[in-house]
Amino acid sequence: MYKEIDLPISIKLDAKSYSKVIRVDKLTNIVSFKSMIDKSLRFYNRNTEVLYFYLKDFSLLKTMNNLRYKDLNIIFDINIKNIKLLKEYKDILKNFNLTAVLDSGVKPHEIVGVVKFLSFLGVKSVITFDLFKNIDEKEMKHIMNEVVLNPDFVKDVEPFFSFVTYIYEKKTKREIKDTLWDAFKEKPEKFFYVTSDGYVTLSKRWDKRSKYFYNLQEPKEKRHSSEFYKELDSYEQNLFFKNLECAMCESFEFCGAYLKFENGSYDCTPFQTMLKNIEENFDIFKVSKAA
Ligand code: SF4
Repeated sequence: MYKEIDLPISIKLDAKSYSKVIRVDKLTNIVSFKSMIDKSLRFYNRNTEVLYFYLKDFSLLKTMNNLRYKDLNIIFDINIKNIKLLKEYKDILKNFNLTAVLDSGVKPHEIVGVVKFLSFLGVKSVITFDLFKNIDEKEMKHIMNEVVLNPDFVKDVEPFFSFVTYIYEKKTKREIKDTLWDAFKEKPEKFFYVTSDGYVTLSKRWDKRSKYFYNLQEPKEKRHSSEFYKELDSYEQNLFFKNLECAMCESFEFCGAYLKFENGSYDCTPFQTMLKNIEENFDIFKVSKAA
């Protein structure tokens, strides 16, 4: 089955601030599959900053390659089956812009090995918050030394590349472009995750928790009345009344209180230590740029 996901209607088509996701679940009919991809590429490229194809079944990459679709943005989940396929399809990976999502199915101690493997294959990684929050201090140090302070790898791994970008912007007194909400691809009104049943939420994390904004079949007027929408809105409105720690935090400009949204008692120390470490070691990146 091929499933096309429509953009939520509340989003302005000329805004540079959203992603469009085409989700491909199963392939049963090559002709309709091909015609839908052609139609999507023709129509949406005009209006959309970035068009992504989310492959639930990564083996479809081979079909896309055989159909001569090149340079498409492909997202897929990292699991044992997909890692095996990556090794098998090594020769065709360069024909696509690939991003692998590392969720809680990956163990924190596996992150370094997996992102290095992906980076060698030219595949970018995005670590979800559900995985990030389980990284303990020892593992955080390992990731810090092997990935975050390694210019060869960090450019391919989010949210860590955003950490480095933030420190650069801070040091050069530039405007902070993206916050942690962007880095984890959960900024409201910018990122959308749409289930194959048409439920719209922020990301896979909230789908797992059954928290949705609306269903694409629902009337427009219901679109901002969900509990989840209100929760996000009131978190932002009441942040400084309810959460003094964030109000006083020197990382607030970048974090935007993201880390404590779901759990007010989340311990941000490892994140803050990581930012300090990047700042103290920032010359590593300058040397690599000059080289
Ligand atoms: S790092 Fe922690 S305390 Fe600081 S703004 Fe983020 S969530 Fe709040």
